[in-house]
Amino acid sequence: MADLRRALELVRTVADFPEPGVLFRDLNPLFADVGALRTVVDAMAAALPADVDVVAPVEARGFLLGAPLALALGCGMVPVRKAGKLPAVAARVDYQLEYGTASLELPAEVLREGQRVAVVDDVLATGGTVAAVCELVERAGAEVVAVSVVLELTALGGRGQLPGREVQALQAL
Ligand code: 5GP
Repeated sequence: MADLRRALELVRTVADFPEPGVLFRDLNPLFADVGALRTVVDAMAAALPADVDVVAPVEARGFLLGAPLALALGCGMVPVRKAGKLPAVAARVDYQLEYGTASLELPAEVLREGQRVAVVDDVLATGGTVAAVCELVERAGAEVVAVSVVLELTALGGRGQLPGREVQALQAL
């Protein structure tokens, strides 16, 4: 617990990024510290159900957690990518950002019907990104059993986009 607290203290808050008035939580100092990275990945793994079949991390910072988390859980990984990067696409979801829209894609023929999936990202903010990933997973006929993030920015109301979902955050800010 003390280790997890120390690890989370490495998250740096950067004012006015990516635009004026925004407080950006920068996890790079945490990623750069092997002990902190291990502590965080182990804590995420411990909170997830034991029978997760696949983790589905979202590009890009989710990938940094998704791969070690998959290894810690002993399961596979299906990376969810920004549009236009995949050679073969199973499904695409367009979703609203604060300004404009974004699109995410699920790779073809890797996620199987009925698989139990943990959606993974670094930060839950407005919830639009994770909600889009959940939609992709469910369109493939798989089941979202949990959403796992390091930080939840509660003021942005992300959980409101994820009704009925099991949302696990190591820290709520
Ligand atoms: P949402 O869709 O929940 O508004 O935004 C979440 C996505 O934006 C995540 O993929 C996350 O990486 C990124 N994001 C939003 N705010 C922050 C932040 O303060 N720090 C970091 N590291 N990522 C953020």
